[in-house]
Amino acid sequence: MRALSELKGFGPKRLEALQRRGICTAQDLIERLPTGYRDTTHPLSPAQMTEGTQACFAGFVTGKPALHRARGMQWVSATVADECGRVRCMWFNQPWMKDRLFDTQHVTLYGRCVRKKTGLFVINPTMEEPGQIVPVYAPVPGVGQKPLRDAVRLLLEEYDLPDPLPAPFVARHNLMARREALCEAHFPTGFEALARAKERLAFEELVLFQAAIAGASGPRPQAQPLPVQDDWVDAFFETLPFPPTCAQRRAALEIAADMRQSRAMARMVQGDVGCGKTVIAFCALALCVRAGGQGALMAPTEILAAQHFRSAVETLAPLGISCGLLTGKMAAAERRRAREAIATGAWQVVIGTHALLTQDVTFANLQLVVTDEQHRFGVRQRTTLASKGVSPHVMVMSATPIPRSLSLVLYGDLDLSLVDELPPGRTPVHTRIVPEEKREGLYGFIRAEAAKGFQTYVVCPLVGEDAKDDPDVRSASAVCAALTQALAPLRVGLVHGRMNKHDKEETLDRFYAGKLDVLVATTVIEVGVNVPRATVMVIEGAERFGLAQLHQLRGRVGRGAQESWCFLMAEPNERLRTLTATHDGFAVAQKDLELRGAGEFFGTRQHGEPQMPALMLSSDSRLLARARDAFLELSKDPTFEAERTALLRAAAARRSGVFLARN
Ligand code: ADP
Ligand code: MG
Repeated sequence: MRALSELKGFGPKRLEALQRRGICTAQDLIERLPTGYRDTTHPLSPAQMTEGTQACFAGFVTGKPALHRARGMQWVSATVADECGRVRCMWFNQPWMKDRLFDTQHVTLYGRCVRKKTGLFVINPTMEEPGQIVPVYAPVPGVGQKPLRDAVRLLLEEYDLPDPLPAPFVARHNLMARREALCEAHFPTGFEALARAKERLAFEELVLFQAAIAGASGPRPQAQPLPVQDDWVDAFFETLPFPPTCAQRRAALEIAADMRQSRAMARMVQGDVGCGKTVIAFCALALCVRAGGQGALMAPTEILAAQHFRSAVETLAPLGISCGLLTGKMAAAERRRAREAIATGAWQVVIGTHALLTQDVTFANLQLVVTDEQHRFGVRQRTTLASKGVSPHVMVMSATPIPRSLSLVLYGDLDLSLVDELPPGRTPVHTRIVPEEKREGLYGFIRAEAAKGFQTYVVCPLVGEDAKDDPDVRSASAVCAALTQALAPLRVGLVHGRMNKHDKEETLDRFYAGKLDVLVATTVIEVGVNVPRATVMVIEGAERFGLAQLHQLRGRVGRGAQESWCFLMAEPNERLRTLTATHDGFAVAQKDLELRGAGEFFGTRQHGEPQMPALMLSSDSRLLARARDAFLELSKDPTFEAERTALLRAAAARRSGVFLARN
């Protein structure tokens, strides 16, 4: 196998450009599939090249091409025609085109038609092989499409492409051979073959993804059975100011039943924002403590951990349960005291962030681990924490409703409790799309709400500097400055991920306490934060967020009995209208999955997420289900033991980072 540096035309500059895009080996290049294709099998007539058309067209060169020079520029011009009409073409700074083209030559070209002062022209069209489906790759600055294409073609010919899927498995599921699939994916012989190739590669990723999870988590470990009684569940709920919903009680009973087993619980509690998962977690923790164990609750952000801690003190302390908080940004002395309280068991319930995962934290008697907003945690983190106890019961909570098909693949190793009911008295959040010209009206609305004592969130996609390259993005700091002026004398505050902990918490505390009317934030407030007097959610640059994420955000309001609103700042479109039409998180999630594919489903990359492989752009629920069944079959039927072992090995051998987050 050739190294990239041995490819003709790939000098240090190009190699560096590739590396900057994370392409370091031949395999990287081969596994980077095209993002689209240019179809030269059905070229347009030159007559169909109208202003703005970007397409492949074919015809005869009429007359001798001419080379022009003026104002320090040179260009070649030629006319391409067929029986229906003609179009003029121009090539700038490519004087050699004059010699590549000749009168009556039949050419297939690809380019965009634009209007110039002197008429319509196709500018710098590329010469294409006719009758082909040509791959188009995500751009690599400094390396053009043609060198990429040529390199991939050469590598595909030379490279040994072993199939990670065992041969009998491939045959049984009627999959295209891997080599053929990769060749077809890069250089399709037809669109039908292309579809099959993509399906095969997606299937492979899905099956290996499951194998990776199964390999990482291993068989469900033994745990200490806890003498938890069902009436403890009801006793716990009686201490709350409200009765539980049926769904909450059902989930709590399922958890209690799990904790009685000698096989460790591994349960996901999934429910839409606001369905009340936190009290389910507290119930589980209370059961664990009452049975003599120690419990931990882990949240993805400092803010959320702090909020959970406050609620835990409110809910659990009256039951005589001692709670403590450990986060990564604590001062050393404070942290030492926290570690000691955890190690001695003085804290029966520990709430924290990723900091709970660090080596130096040891628990006295960890029997239950609850992870909030699970999809923010990588599989590996899940197992690291689990490995801290003797072998604790594990429960994870997810507010992102994940379509069932995808959830089975991602979390197939977990039992599921669905909390499919909201506490009574919630009014759905009125959701509106607000185009720029209606901004003034919105400000009036915010003022009116503030006059009634209600508060507003304004969420922005990015913070100041990040947005520098992108004038479209209204950065949080700029928005904050603008709003402070536009809404004066309302009190406007700002929080974003780069602020130091102290400033951030001070601002948030002021908002919780009602001392701010408007809170401008990046998505730090996305998960879990609960401010009952906040009735308005404004989302700047709504187009930049995934639907599931927008749905999460609007769940921040509408937590009290008052009517509440979510305003999506964007030009109206079909995608965003999904949100104005439905409040069902699962429907939103399904739509999001369909529109963006699983790879994008989870939104931003920064969160130590199991990165869904690039190949898995399939939104096809049937394919997800097929891959799930295929893997389950291997796990259930001992005749397939060899295949299963081979798959686990293949999944482990895949370079790290393809399947699991680099956490
Ligand atoms: P999420 O599921 O999004 O984490 P939370 O646990 O934050 O939701 O709950 C949202 C709000 O609903 C909280 O203020 C909580 O006190 C309240 N709540 C939870 N369960 C009930 C219930 N059964 N009846 C009334 N209010 C409830
Ligand atoms: Mg929550």
